[in-house]
Amino acid sequence: MRKIAAHYIFPISDPPIRNAILTLSDEGEVLNLSAADGALQESEGVEFYSGALVPAFVNAHCHLELSHLKGEVPPHAGLAGFISGLAARRSNATREQELRAIALADAQLYAGGTVAVGDISNSNLTFEVKARSPIFYHTFIERFGLRREDVARAVQSAEALAEEAAQRGLAASLTPHAPYSTRSELYAALAQSSRWSVHNQESRDENLLFTEGRGALRELFESMGLPPIPPTGKSSIHHTLQHVREAQPLLLVHNTCTSADDYDAAAARCKRISWTLCPASNMHIERTLPPLPMLRAKGAAIALGTDSLASNSSLNLLDELKLLAAHFPNVPLDEMLRWATLGGATALGLEHIFGTLERGKRPGVTLLSNLDLDKLKLTPETKSRLLTKKNAYICPEF
Ligand SMILES: [Zn+2]
Repeated sequence: MRKIAAHYIFPISDPPIRNAILTLSDEGEVLNLSAADGALQESEGVEFYSGALVPAFVNAHCHLELSHLKGEVPPHAGLAGFISGLAARRSNATREQELRAIALADAQLYAGGTVAVGDISNSNLTFEVKARSPIFYHTFIERFGLRREDVARAVQSAEALAEEAAQRGLAASLTPHAPYSTRSELYAALAQSSRWSVHNQESRDENLLFTEGRGALRELFESMGLPPIPPTGKSSIHHTLQHVREAQPLLLVHNTCTSADDYDAAAARCKRISWTLCPASNMHIERTLPPLPMLRAKGAAIALGTDSLASNSSLNLLDELKLLAAHFPNVPLDEMLRWATLGGATALGLEHIFGTLERGKRPGVTLLSNLDLDKLKLTPETKSRLLTKKNAYICPEF
């Protein structure tokens, strides 16, 4: 048994508790959480930390396979420019360099307080690191395709990868990449997948492609000799929604150009959407941020991701929280922490294990130090680290 105390504990399932003590079993299961009697200090049998304890982070959107591209793709090029930049640099590294960057990214995620990740994979490059990692990964095996003749092969290779993931003990599901890159037949062929993670409305050009058949994405595909999706007069989210089942767990990722009408259409079509935001990546690529006031007003289920190191300098959700706090200072810290913990856990179907400090869960515990404890705000100096041991949150059913 282990007793951990701090100035604040954020259980997420309840409001933050001042001067609180968390009791964990040797396996990391939450046994009890309570306010301390009187002033807290290090005492026999109780570890005391300055700062706040929170459930460990769940990063809902990452691409570990792009980790070697840190700092390589120029910023503010727009989505079409980013895709071109990515394509130009993707093959420059050796496999050894790629694997080293993936292992380093995984280790940094863990040390920074992350216990579960929704990770996009186009190949098996990351599988070995993920299979050995103390982090729980849900792998989204991603496919895109604009040519009709490529659909069958795309699905076949994705199914083979899913089989390989299963053999390595990795949770995985097949997913379309994005409306602008994926034709209807491919969406339809992936419709029976258990969980989708689809990039959505990441730029104005994505909507323009569908509403008016023009813009930088259309020009990009034409320059590559690929047939763009024909315009429908509706925003790009509808291309995804027409293939989604009502009860299908769906992560919609980015949503920077999602309107209130788009939100309503999506909510009417599918009941299990996690609106997954990657603000630092949005700033890197498009110099924009997601419509947080609209999503909060709608009561959206929000999760956070980092996207890849090709469009971000860090895979730690704490840095996403700092960015959001700087732009949306009125959002309470407790609410933002909910997105980084329970929001991600729910997005990945892991809310029975991770995301809150409720009795019976094994969520892992992350320490946030150097907070402004009077105002309960993050500061530029706030740091995060995982306090629980490697085996504390590995759940037997996985
Ligand atoms: Zn992404």
